[in-house]
Amino acid sequence: MSAAKTVDQSALLPESLRDDFPILSRDILEGHPLVFLDNAASTQRPRQVIDAISNVYEHDYANVHRGIHTLSERSTELYELAREKVRAFVGAKHAREVIFTPGTTASINLVARSWGGANLQPGDEILTTVMEHHSNLVPWQQIAAETGAVLRHVPITEDGRLDMAAFDQLLSERTKLVAVCSISNTLGTINPIDEITSKAHAAGALVLVDAAQSVPHMPVDVLKSDVDFLAFSGHKMLGPSGVGILYGKESLLDAMPPFLGGGSMINEVRLDSFTPAELPAKFEAGTPPIAPAIGMSAAIDYLNHIGLEAIHRHEQVLTQLAYDALSQIEGLRILGPAPKHRAGLVSFAFERIHAHEFAQVLNDQFGVAVRAGHHCTQPLHALLGISASTRASFYFYNQPENVDCLLEGISAVQSMFAPQGRRRRRKHNS
Ligand code: PMP
Repeated sequence: MSAAKTVDQSALLPESLRDDFPILSRDILEGHPLVFLDNAASTQRPRQVIDAISNVYEHDYANVHRGIHTLSERSTELYELAREKVRAFVGAKHAREVIFTPGTTASINLVARSWGGANLQPGDEILTTVMEHHSNLVPWQQIAAETGAVLRHVPITEDGRLDMAAFDQLLSERTKLVAVCSISNTLGTINPIDEITSKAHAAGALVLVDAAQSVPHMPVDVLKSDVDFLAFSGHKMLGPSGVGILYGKESLLDAMPPFLGGGSMINEVRLDSFTPAELPAKFEAGTPPIAPAIGMSAAIDYLNHIGLEAIHRHEQVLTQLAYDALSQIEGLRILGPAPKHRAGLVSFAFERIHAHEFAQVLNDQFGVAVRAGHHCTQPLHALLGISASTRASFYFYNQPENVDCLLEGISAVQSMFAPQGRRRRRKHNS
């Protein structure tokens, strides 16, 4: 029976939302409408976001802040309105705590270079985890090498959750910063951010949250969770690529030196010195991502209209469905915890089929787009004893039928590559 038929329809968002996304009506294969399950890498954009971007270029575009002509005033207004939208979206106190960056990676590098460069001493510790994206590992490795700070990693439990007992042991008065993802882009694990911030603060450490996978999918409130820094990307939440956010508490951002130097980030420049601008300009050197920020603002309007709680609920249904069906397949290993501890993605590995081959056939023969590889979590894959996995990641425009397409594809690929593969009853966690 179709897995889709067993679902509680009342928890699902309407299928008609898909019509807002022009690209989703594209056929990849004749007779196979696109099944887009690569949302953790980048989502698609609704017509409302595409229109907002083309509108600004057609009617309101000029460089921001310095101009006194109408177009510059208008684009500055829209750009600053976007900042205010982001502020409200993540529950920050002040718009000046919201910095536009090129993305999550750039936001984390900003903190590592600026805060880390100014504050880390030899022997200080940065506590991160083994499930981090390379974006939340490499910048800390770099700044640790420069400052003499030491990097420590919280391990995971058997079922792919953060090992909080080990966290408690690793956290000490030497820890200056905890850098952790709120949702793992490979395991799907939802981490206990509130507990982490309260324990880290009690130990005197700051907390940076890599929220690339959470801000687009569930409500996030920086004040309630008391995070010090939060990083995320526009392209994973219906917005354009090229724009992301660094949220930081005002007192921390105020005390940090500027990261990049150039136009806009200064108050006054002399031939041999400069004074930095106030927040947020201090961290926005050069021409910022104007149209992408305005596109992100439209994306936030769209997400608010649907509601983040409803989006999360919808994705939970799809995840449960996929998890239950995948765990019946012999020779397939699901990475990460049970559905109640995970967000809207499922990564898995086959005993006998390489992830790349698998994803290629899914695309070429079924029009199903999934991601295959290490998902920028090489250390985590090494720990799990595999070099690559396949990841199906959902968004609210996916429906249970999309999970059926994935399962149909898996079954066909299995019989193609491993005819001996059979369905089984037993549950299988990693
Ligand atoms: N962190 C996580 C958890 C991610 O999933 C990603 C994107 N895959 C990033 C960081 C990096 O985001 P970006 O490429 O937009 O900088």
